[in-house]
Amino acid sequence: MNCPSCAGKLYKYKTHDAAYMICDSCFGHYFLEADIKKLHKPKIWDQIISDAKPIKSKRKIPCIKCKNKMVEIEVNNNDQIVKIDRCHNCKILWLDQDEIEYLQAEKCDLENALNKEKIISEIDTINMNSLIESKLAEVYLDSQLQDMKLMRKELKKREKQSNAYKNSDGWEIFEDFLY
Ligand SMILES: [Zn+2]
Ligand SMILES: [Zn+2]
Repeated sequence: MNCPSCAGKLYKYKTHDAAYMICDSCFGHYFLEADIKKLHKPKIWDQIISDAKPIKSKRKIPCIKCKNKMVEIEVNNNDQIVKIDRCHNCKILWLDQDEIEYLQAEKCDLENALNKEKIISEIDTINMNSLIESKLAEVYLDSQLQDMKLMRKELKKREKQSNAYKNSDGWEIFEDFLY
């Protein structure tokens, strides 16, 4: 199926909250009003649509379902003016690439909230990581100290056992420990 706006191809595309038919070239897309209502409070969306003004336009975007010419309307969402095409019968919209951004006030809020949550969890992760790192460092130091204590103990034991190391720099002993 071809894009009603350019020569591109239309593809079905589904996210967790909406289904689209989207053009792979201009990214215009058919969008169900029912899906926008999930993002807005339904009453607010109905108000936006009833306040929308039809525009005289030469655009000929056919409805994907009934094939009738869609009506271009000017929609005002939180003072963002967006021109969209709508089939009044099927309640299907045609949106150009970025128009959806202006229609999704609540989703944007949701995204912001989610982003904030993401940032907070990232901070938590950083804190957690540095906590783990410092704990690991403590454990590592502990084990190093333990090793050193053992080493010193062993050295003293060996020194007592033999006088052979008395004049050496002690590296022979360390080599025993290292391998
Ligand atoms: Zn297109
Ligand atoms: Zn239609």
